[in-house]
Order: sequence, then structure tokens, then C-alpha cells
Amino acid sequence: MPTSTFARVGEEIAAFLLAACCAGCDAPGELLCDACRVRLAPSPRESTTPGGLPVVAALGYDDIAARCIRRLKGEGETLLAGPLGLALRATLARVTADGAVLVPIPTGRAAFRRRGYRVPDLLVRRAGGRPVRLLAPARPTADQRGLSTEERAENVRGSMRMRAGIVSTVGPVVLVDDVVTTGATFDEAARVLATAGVEVRAAVALAATPLHRRIIENAPATRRK
Ligand SMILES: [Zn+2]
Repeated sequence: MPTSTFARVGEEIAAFLLAACCAGCDAPGELLCDACRVRLAPSPRESTTPGGLPVVAALGYDDIAARCIRRLKGEGETLLAGPLGLALRATLARVTADGAVLVPIPTGRAAFRRRGYRVPDLLVRRAGGRPVRLLAPARPTADQRGLSTEERAENVRGSMRMRAGIVSTVGPVVLVDDVVTTGATFDEAARVLATAGVEVRAAVALAATPLHRRIIENAPATRRK
């Protein structure tokens, strides 16, 4: 190999290393530093959706986890699905010990065109599971951020459908998504599946947002009324 080729390869490697910085804390050198990797250890939190479906989230959507998920979803950093999938793995194992079918929440067409991959499906695969795509997007939805619980439920109503040619003899099912906030998306997915005769047992998210946790904290007081 000519010397110039060696030099060019060296330059490319150097450029790659310089470009790499930790998704969690911006420390230069690698995509995820050891300290941030430790912070992605799962700390499962349980809740229920407004429709009463049990939800387990592997992580809180804060700090390191939020930054990593944003880079996976918004910046095409698919390598982060590895460490994030590990966090999901232990949580999925808790819920699917008896071999439930893992059904990812469908990715909207625009998001799939933009990213070229489906985040929930990728996370399930990196968690060692097999995503079974029973659901497909039916229509685009507005950005859920800033919407109330009722507005979110309204926003996702009719947003997904059973994929054509799916037989309804599968199940029981565990739904999987990357981030849960109110659980409105899980409820809509469960409704569509139930209409098709598929039993949904629970839902698992990689991370739960602070809004979701606030709702859970308030839930007992709400129920007492
Ligand atoms: Zn870091």
C-alpha cells in the first residue's frame, strides 16, 4: 500500500475519533463514556396508562438517557441502540418471562423516511428480542409535546391500524415504545389490537418522561376523589 494511502486512512481515523464525543456528557473520544454507560443501568418504574394498561419503563427520561435517546432518534446515532437496548433487555425480561409477542409502536411514515430505521424495532432487536410488526401507521399525528393527557389521546386516535394480512391468533402481546409520557399511544395501540382480537398484556418503554411520573405520583389522590 502506498504511503499516501496509509496517511489518508490515518487522517480519516483521526477525524472520526475527533468527531466522536460522548452522547451523555460530550466528553471527547467515544460515543458513550464508561461513567454515562453506568448511568444507563435500568431502574424500572411501573405505572398504568389512562386506559389501565400496566407500563414498565426501564429508565427515567432525564439527563443522560434523554440525551442518548435524542441522538438515537434525531441524529442517526444508531450505535446508541446497543447500550440503550441493554437497559431495555432486563425490563423486557421482567414482563415477557412467559414468552409474550413483542409488538413495537409503529413509526410514522415521515419519521421512517427521515431516519431510515424504526427506533422501537431497533431497540427490541438490540435487547435480544424479535419485533413483530402487527401495527402500521394510519395517519400522521401532531407533535405530542405540550399537549395535555386528553389532547394526546385525541391526537393519536385513529393513528394506527392492523397491518394487512395479520391473523389475530397471535398473543398475548407486550407493546414496546422508546418513550412513554401519558401512555395515550399505548392505549390507542391496545385498542386497535383488542378490536382485532389480540390480547395486550402490558407495555414496556425504554424511558418514562417526567410528565408521566408526575401523573403517577398524582394518581392515588385522583382515585380517592
Ligand atoms: Zn459521558
